[in-house]
Amino acid sequence: MTATTPEPTHSSGSVDQADRTVSTPGLPLPLVFDEPPRRSKPPRHLADLDTAARREAVTRAGMPAFRANQVGHHYFARLVDDPDQMTDLPAALREPLAEALLPTLMTPVTVRSADGGTTRKTLWRLHDGTLVECVLMRYPDRVTMCVSSQAGCGMACPFCATGQGGLQRNLSTAEIVEQVVAGARSLQRGEVPGGPGRVSNVVFMGMGEPLANYAAVVGALRRLVEPSPSGLGMSARGITVSTVGLVPRIQQLADEGLPVTLALSLHAPDDELRDELVPVNTRWKVTEAVGAAWEYASRTGRRVSIEYALIKDVNDQGWRADLLADVLLSYGDWGWVHVNLIPLNPTPGSRWTASRREVEREFVRRLQARRISTTVRDTRGREIDGACGQLAATGG
Ligand code: SAH
Repeated sequence: MTATTPEPTHSSGSVDQADRTVSTPGLPLPLVFDEPPRRSKPPRHLADLDTAARREAVTRAGMPAFRANQVGHHYFARLVDDPDQMTDLPAALREPLAEALLPTLMTPVTVRSADGGTTRKTLWRLHDGTLVECVLMRYPDRVTMCVSSQAGCGMACPFCATGQGGLQRNLSTAEIVEQVVAGARSLQRGEVPGGPGRVSNVVFMGMGEPLANYAAVVGALRRLVEPSPSGLGMSARGITVSTVGLVPRIQQLADEGLPVTLALSLHAPDDELRDELVPVNTRWKVTEAVGAAWEYASRTGRRVSIEYALIKDVNDQGWRADLLADVLLSYGDWGWVHVNLIPLNPTPGSRWTASRREVEREFVRRLQARRISTTVRDTRGREIDGACGQLAATGG
């Protein structure tokens, strides 16, 4: 725990308990900021290391430091991790280098496809048996990887399947990066319809609260944007970190010099409702979360995205659209913000459902009438439980 990490608090939400949890009926789920103690750590991997640490790992294994960059090039630029394909390395060094830097981090359990194969959800088993999912989505102009930053999630949002299962553990930097690399490999190999391609976008919208696993996530961001041999050389503009609103961490992220896009999962413009929908709101209120997002936009020059899942008769009233506009416009109308409305993906057993089409349209109309840039997200991957909030790793 650091000074900026909040004490765990309990939600006092009045949401029907039967909808809140499958594991402990009758009890609201607690907010969990820190992972439970665990016995083993994921193996250290090239993608966990910066340049200096990479070189040190190689010298410690008894090989010359410059070999580290060769391996980095194979992994990040060529997307190769099979030592036999590293033909510029002396044959005798290939195995020891792979052993030192490229341990197996995860193995695929299932791959499920939708949308003619252009949406693919992979369930991975990590070294300790933990399961996590990620989703690849290919569009005509881009490929987006939706990655997990934690196994499970401790933020307890009652409408989110991941949140209902609690937090199992944080992922390591390399476990996050490897999800992207695996997607990049399948595109390179032409396994995704549309011909060979590249990952252009990464969204931290899979399992977990990225800012609750801050160090590993920032490490992963660095690996994604740094050029080979230190990283994949992606544009920070194509990367979105989505958060429930851990305010001190948003402020810290603004200082990292990584101009990634920030998405704030707001889901309600008023504290009364947000306390229930996003329990971390009991710790940081709507104005604090939105204020931090505004500051992020001001300091990085990156427009922030406000995520708002439209839930029928819960948060989709016209007056809430107006209130949302008021809250956002209180920070000025210089184009700092974009609203992304998500039709709710109902989770199993929930009585909540997506808003009616005309209600959704009216919500959009009211925001746009106030000149707030607003879109409704598509619901790709829904039928393979790969859409937002559906990743639960229940076996694929
Ligand atoms: N912990 C991060 C990332 C989670 S998932 C966060 O909360 O932002 C990314 C987005 O999907 C979040 O905006 C989340 O609130 C939303 N989401 C979760 N469950 C959903 C559901 N059932 N339907 C629609 N969106 C959902």
